[in-house]
Amino acid sequence: MNKQKKKLPLAMQIFIALILAIVVGLLIQSHATFAENYIKPFGTIFLNLLKFIVVPIVLFSIMCGIISMRDIKKVGAIGLKTVVYYMCTTAFAITIGLIGGNVFQRFFPVIATTDLAYEMPEKMSVMDTIVNIFPSNFISPMVESNMLQVIVIALLLGFSIIGLGEKNVGIVKACNSLNEVFMKCMEMILKLSPIGVFCLLCPVVASNGTAIIGSLAMVLLAAYICYVLHATIVYSIAVKTMGGISPTRFFKEMLPAIMFAFSSASSVGTLPINMECVEKLGARKEVSSFVLPLGATINMDGTAIYQGVCAIFIASCYGIHLTLPQMMTIILTATLASIGTAGVPGSGMVMLAMVLTSVGLPVDGIALVAGVDRIFDMGRTTVNITGDASCCIIVSNLERKKEERRAKRGSC
Ligand code: ASP
Repeated sequence: MNKQKKKLPLAMQIFIALILAIVVGLLIQSHATFAENYIKPFGTIFLNLLKFIVVPIVLFSIMCGIISMRDIKKVGAIGLKTVVYYMCTTAFAITIGLIGGNVFQRFFPVIATTDLAYEMPEKMSVMDTIVNIFPSNFISPMVESNMLQVIVIALLLGFSIIGLGEKNVGIVKACNSLNEVFMKCMEMILKLSPIGVFCLLCPVVASNGTAIIGSLAMVLLAAYICYVLHATIVYSIAVKTMGGISPTRFFKEMLPAIMFAFSSASSVGTLPINMECVEKLGARKEVSSFVLPLGATINMDGTAIYQGVCAIFIASCYGIHLTLPQMMTIILTATLASIGTAGVPGSGMVMLAMVLTSVGLPVDGIALVAGVDRIFDMGRTTVNITGDASCCIIVSNLERKKEERRAKRGSC
């Protein structure tokens, strides 16, 4: 028992692994190919495991969240509040990113843009994107990890189970048990995070050294200042006014999840720790098990900030000046892009392609920031999960107040 208590918290272990990865990476710079060939594959294994668990975790947590509310109207009310909050904060985040990018633009390095190469993901229109949210097949969304379709399946199944009424006892039990199994599995995978983080970061540092960070230092700084501003201003005001708790308490209790997200760069990976943190802050389980997995897939404020800053930086490298209508388009597409971003490391960079093409910026420009994506990703994931948690606290508090009002009315 005592031995367990003394064990270093996982978030701290990951943080140490992060520092070690930087130090070792710098030391073995002359053996960068060794790091690429023999260290990186272990990082890829860890990433694969995370990707493997994303689908069942999101599917079952959202289903169980819906089932536990037992009432379709209630799910609708909570869902609406959640989606409105997520959309508004993301639009706010991208605006902050664009403002930050513009303010810092004069300090951004001018990088030669001649021999860039980035493979563009398949281009899709807005209507195609909407149509694509709805699955035509039960299995393929799971196989392809199409998270929006997985969410739609979870919603449909969750509602159907509620619709079964008293006949649903067996399936509810089965869903809850499966949810626990996948959560346990996730916990086991997460125990590997210190190794995973080390093996992913060390080769990046070994092959790029500090030089790459140096040339992009101002872009990174701009993104990080925006991350901090968004988190401290927007979430503080939100949890204070609508969540009924002090921002200091909020950030203090969130610290384990924040540290974990920063080091692992995965919103989905941070899900179990985030759930514990919000429950300590008084959020209801029925709300957290619906709002958090949804947020880990569709709410990406940090990613939106990163996309705003990077769009400005890439435009300036190509000598392009973005107009106001173009910035408005970026706000819209980045908000949509953040919905389609999966909560695993590196996915935000892929969605940057969508944002760039929406305003006619060359997608090749992504190559300019790809080398330091991990550093951007650590900050953006931290903001992403803090945003999810703030929403959870707020929705929980609003629901509580609604019930109190109803109870008062009932007793009158
Ligand atoms: N890594 C981020 C997350 O898990 C997504 C991104 O790449 O922006 O939230």
